[in-house]
Amino acid sequence: MNAPSDTIFGKIIRREIPANIVYEDDLCLAFRDVAPQAPVHILLIPKKPIVNLSTLEPEDQAVLGHMMLMASQIAAQEGLSNGYRVVTNIGEDGGQTVYHLHFHILGGRALSWPPG
Ligand code: 5GP
Repeated sequence: MNAPSDTIFGKIIRREIPANIVYEDDLCLAFRDVAPQAPVHILLIPKKPIVNLSTLEPEDQAVLGHMMLMASQIAAQEGLSNGYRVVTNIGEDGGQTVYHLHFHILGGRALSWPPG
């Protein structure tokens, strides 16, 4: 598995490729998904190269808590007052395609459940 810094998201963090960034601070970055699955589809990523939730370390607790607060703030900023979904895919069976931890923030339409 490639180091997360080698992924497309590492390149977005380093501004080596463009992205439609909607939020940034010292710990995390949020940008619009290039292939949106809903009217609002934002990816929220830590700047630290973490592969996925399975590789979290105790020291990551604060950044993950911060990211959940920012997910809520971004959803409000996007006007998702009727609800939305935050999801993270982990590994092959989870459908993860980019091995840099990311939370999908999806909204702007009624989302079905269960997922496929
Ligand atoms: P995963 O399948 O790993 O949970 O999600 C990866 C997401 O990254 C997908 O929704 C895909 O559309 C998005 N994605 C892949 N490459 C790029 C890119 O270069 N730019 C942006 N903005 N999104 C990307």
